[in-house]
Amino acid sequence: MTHDDKAPAPPRSTLVITAHAGDFVWRAGGAIALAASRGERVTIACLTYGERGESAKAWRQGKTLEEIKGIRREEAEKAAATLGAEVVFFDAGDYPLLATPELTDRLVGAYRKTQPDVVLTHPLDDPYNGDHPAAARMALDARVLAQAIGYPAEGEVIGAPPVFFFEPHQPEMCGFKPEVLLDITEVWETKRRAMECLAAQQHLWDYYTDLAVRRGVQLKRNAGPNLGLPHTTYAEAYMRPYPQITAELA
Ligand SMILES: [Zn+2]
Repeated sequence: MTHDDKAPAPPRSTLVITAHAGDFVWRAGGAIALAASRGERVTIACLTYGERGESAKAWRQGKTLEEIKGIRREEAEKAAATLGAEVVFFDAGDYPLLATPELTDRLVGAYRKTQPDVVLTHPLDDPYNGDHPAAARMALDARVLAQAIGYPAEGEVIGAPPVFFFEPHQPEMCGFKPEVLLDITEVWETKRRAMECLAAQQHLWDYYTDLAVRRGVQLKRNAGPNLGLPHTTYAEAYMRPYPQITAELA
């Protein structure tokens, strides 16, 4: 295949790898909506529906496992569409989600297909929820395999997209520090609408609104007084497991 110099570069691509159907909304909905609002492509690889571990309301209502998976799938699809992203379900089964070579290999396929410029996933520690570290471990392992020309998977090898860990529910217990604060104010209403698609976890809507305000206060404190940020600034926090690459300290 020849490359035409005039062919437009493909849009930047973000790959989000999450354990459960709701995770991408609470933890990274702002980053996803921001990228989508710039015309970038965002793909969410959702390893499970969170059917056993994060659907307590539906279980209390007496729904069956298959009904719950269907409810969570529909909610997540609505939320992803609201944010402007595509969601792919792996249906690997949660509680427990186990890291396996087969699932890791499917993620290698996702990397090579989406050719991400940015990767978002869970932190590697979470004493409250083993599914989250399992997803993160596979996300990092698959990234390395997808880089190796000798690894047998379809598609082109990938570069070295930076990885950002999004904020877990109990950040201190997961060793999480807000190393990166992302201003999501301009897409806040979109994130809130996406959260409201997740009726199964309505108890979290206000919790994650409050968190975004708190991270916004910290963003403003770190940005200094001269940026003219609005009184209420909303933010999401991230960590970086790999070094930032730069030619200039900024
Ligand atoms: Zn989760």
